Amino acid sequence: MDAHTPILPPYEQLALYIDGEFIQAGGRREQDVVNPATGVAFARLPHATTEDVGRALAAAGKAFQSWRFSSPLERSKILRRVAELIRERAPAIARNMTLDQGKPLAEALQEMATCVEHAEWHAEECRRIYGRVIPPRTETVRQLVIREPVGVCAAFTPWNFPFNQALRKAVAALGAGSTLILKGPEDSPSAVVALARIFHDAGLPAGCFNIVWGVPADISSQLIASPVVRKISFTGSTAVGKGLAALAGAQMKRMTMELGGHSPVLVFEDAEVEAAARFLARTKTRNAGQVCMAPSRFFVHESVHDLFVDAFAGIYAGLKVGDGLAQDTQMGPLAHLRRVDAMRSLVADARARGAAVLCGGERLAGEGYFFPPTIVTGLPDDARLMTEEPFGPVVPVTRFRSTDEALARANALPYGLASYVFTNSLATAHHVSNRLEAGMVSINHFGLALPETPLGGVKESGLGSEGGTETFDGYLATKFVSQSSLVP
Ligand code: NAD
Repeated sequence: MDAHTPILPPYEQLALYIDGEFIQAGGRREQDVVNPATGVAFARLPHATTEDVGRALAAAGKAFQSWRFSSPLERSKILRRVAELIRERAPAIARNMTLDQGKPLAEALQEMATCVEHAEWHAEECRRIYGRVIPPRTETVRQLVIREPVGVCAAFTPWNFPFNQALRKAVAALGAGSTLILKGPEDSPSAVVALARIFHDAGLPAGCFNIVWGVPADISSQLIASPVVRKISFTGSTAVGKGLAALAGAQMKRMTMELGGHSPVLVFEDAEVEAAARFLARTKTRNAGQVCMAPSRFFVHESVHDLFVDAFAGIYAGLKVGDGLAQDTQMGPLAHLRRVDAMRSLVADARARGAAVLCGGERLAGEGYFFPPTIVTGLPDDARLMTEEPFGPVVPVTRFRSTDEALARANALPYGLASYVFTNSLATAHHVSNRLEAGMVSINHFGLALPETPLGGVKESGLGSEGGTETFDGYLATKFVSQSSLVP
């Protein structure tokens, strides 16, 4: 090692976390963790056995019996400590997230900074979980609406924002007084283990938060079938979400579903077209497009289409794609080979339907899962790129003539997560935001996913919201108590 070699933190020691204990492989089945920038496996993740999952269920059930009666003040203090520890540990956690997920280090650090805010928001908001008093029909009666924690929750979080997605579910469930068993993303597991260590060190009682790993369908079916679990929360694809919802529905379990999207972007002729194109090009490359609310179907007024595409392509021309740990990298690899294959297949389908590929379009040669930013124009609305969530750095741009046409095409898919509008007309902004079938509309910027704002979809993009004052709703049950001071 020479004097200039930086001293790097060690990769996270991967483990299960059950009933307050970190559990190493110890003969359990393990799976490889691969660096997507190199394609090389560099760590092993232990899988939970059926007995491990059973112990996590028992621990979460037992812990709930006391955590449900913890005071909001106590929960708030722990969540505040969690926020402080995230801030302290962010550099090491972010670097490990880049190693196993691929995103550029600056983006991983940004994810950590956002999570400090989420933890602080939940620490504040959990002290304001209020019920209400309903005026009675008789003076001797008092009618109370109480909001109680729902019970043991099972959560399943994805690999695109490994720390953020797990943290958001954990602070919402725990802040509400529920307990949690979480299965994180096996592809990118370090952030979730680091999160468990943070809760552990923040003084969360044993059993309130548990982490298990394994074959996703095996773990989720065992957890959802258990009578101990009262609620499930999933972030991931619509297809998997529907399967989990069916399992939960069979037992009438509550659920929060944050599913896929294929977010339309409507660029009107009166917009600041070039600025919008440059802004969207940079937004789209965040996390290499692997973002559920990424702008992903572009409808541009025909009079400004070419101007838009040229400005967009200008940003992509100089964009540096590379290892997320290299300082000048602006876009990292895709998280795994499955996404590279999906990008190739979507671009091939568009080509076969006569589309033009203006830049990118082919996997980058060499090691790692790199696919360049790609712009596709002249494709029909039934091209797969326009109907399937791309979840990658491929941008389909189409033309529209009238507002009604753009709205009809934007609303044509079963998805309804985010949507974006670029216009300088207040009337257009108002008209369109009233008619877009989406859980979120962002006009002239990207203004979504803040701790104080609700995130969620309609149609097949999900059920319920995370964040905002709505954040605890999914983790609470409403109880009505009517008490009389006299027996009539
Ligand atoms: P996938 O559909 O197999 O998995 C998506 C996520 O669900 C993963 O985290 C996976 O571990 C989990 N999962 C899969 N089957 C499960 C089961 N039976 N029980 C519990 N969890 C299960 O696909 P993938 O290749 O990992 O990801 C690609 C697709 O996933 C994308 O096209 C995108 O639609 C979706 N995705 C969405 C988000 C989001 O933020 N909404 C995040 C990541 C992935």
